[in-house]
Amino acid sequence: MAAKGDMFYAWAADAACQEKGECGGAVTALLTHALKSGMVDAVLAVKKGQDIYDAVPTFITDPAEIAQTAGSLHCGTLLLSKLVKQYLDGAKDMRIAVPVKGCDTMGLYELAKRNQVNLDNVLMIGLNCGGSVSPVSARKMIAEKFGVNPDDVVKEEIDKGQFIIVTKDGQHKGISMDELEEEGYGRRSNCRRCKMKVPRQADLACGNWGVIGDQAGKATFVEVCSEKGANLLDGAVSAGVLKTGAANPKGIEIRGKVEGAMLKLGDKWRAKDFEGLGEGKDRLKKIMDATSRCIKCYQCIENCPICYCVECSTKKAYLVTPGQVPPPFIFHLIRYAHISDSCINCGQCEEHCAMDIPNALFMHALQVDLQDMFGHTPGVDMELPVLALVEEKTERKRLSDTGSDQIFNIFE
Ligand code: FAD
Ligand code: SF4
Ligand code: SF4
Ligand code: SF4
Ligand code: SF4
Repeated sequence: MAAKGDMFYAWAADAACQEKGECGGAVTALLTHALKSGMVDAVLAVKKGQDIYDAVPTFITDPAEIAQTAGSLHCGTLLLSKLVKQYLDGAKDMRIAVPVKGCDTMGLYELAKRNQVNLDNVLMIGLNCGGSVSPVSARKMIAEKFGVNPDDVVKEEIDKGQFIIVTKDGQHKGISMDELEEEGYGRRSNCRRCKMKVPRQADLACGNWGVIGDQAGKATFVEVCSEKGANLLDGAVSAGVLKTGAANPKGIEIRGKVEGAMLKLGDKWRAKDFEGLGEGKDRLKKIMDATSRCIKCYQCIENCPICYCVECSTKKAYLVTPGQVPPPFIFHLIRYAHISDSCINCGQCEEHCAMDIPNALFMHALQVDLQDMFGHTPGVDMELPVLALVEEKTERKRLSDTGSDQIFNIFE
């Protein structure tokens, strides 16, 4: 019987699933088993659409359709958590299994804290994540750095620090991620700063790191993170759809080292990006200058997993004067005030911004400052965010006594 903390190599028993899967098809086999066995009513996964730059979220109730979702799409920058809230009624009355990257998992936890998602009904199959590349920059990078027509690429992967493409005529070409990123290509900037590499708050954490020897590329390293995850794994093995073997001790060590190196790299990018923003009034000016391009398309709000309000304050006329483009700065201040303690750095507000405003960078910088002050890390557990702990009465009294409701003046 598997238990929390156990580590395995796993792969699909079915040869076709093994072949189609990114690393042996274990995740596809687990999702199929969860649906077939009745552990869940549906699966929300991601499949390739028009091409490798088109990651399509797919809702599945027929187990035979899950095979279509096998494989990793690194140019898929979508966030599944908000979809669970918006289109699946927060899994309130339906049990669903979802393959989740770190940001998907963190988003689900933040929505669950706000009673927007019922985590008891969500089976989270975590995917380790080194990062994703925006479809627009991937096309540019492939044309400019690889000298290949982006439409001729049929497969991409990130392996051993390289971004690798495979073309229609079977050619493989790889370039080191470090080199690409030094020249402004590569992963999204939020992914470079991301430190949720192995999503252990999911039920299982699956990835290729740590699979070595003959099984490299043919099996997935699975860490069991909850009882629910252990039951799924045991059930799939008993049903004969999943094969497992002991994780190689050297592989466990390597996985730990890679994770550690990725966390250090995340720190390096945070230092670089946040330093570039300056501090205090300089930072404020940079944010005000950049957001002055805003056309108030609301995409940053629509796609943010922390934004869930039926009546958004940015639409209240007494707060944000209607009909003004660009909107007054209070439009952005409202978001900073409501979200910064809980921002999970998923990048959606930047990815979808019509004016390419680095919204995620601004919010993430604020979140890290707040985390340093209050010690609250969003997305890792069900601990309530800082603002939920502020007593309205105490704050009103502070305002009336001192003329200020600021506990800390973060812009000084
Ligand atoms: P499969 O059976 O092929 O199933 C893959 C599942 O991933 C499918 O259910 C599919 O719906 C889902 N999926 C595909 N693309 C996305 C997406 N963009 N967002 C959410 N779900 C998606 N592992 C590591 O150890 N290190 C890494 O650095 C790493 N980076 C990754 C980056 C991304 C963007 C993704 C999606 C995965 C990454 N993984 C990483 C996990 C690894 O690539 C495999 O997904 C994992 O080993 C499982 O392999 P499998 O054959 O069992 O999965
Ligand atoms: Fe992966 Fe983190 Fe980027 Fe999400 S934010 S895609 S978990 S690197
Ligand atoms: Fe994601 Fe942006 Fe919301 Fe932060 S503010 S959680 S980066 S969408
Ligand atoms: Fe709610 Fe504030 Fe987001 Fe509007 S900006 S949806 S009020 S959290
Ligand atoms: Fe403004 Fe960009 Fe947000 Fe649209 S997505 S409202 S342009 S900041």
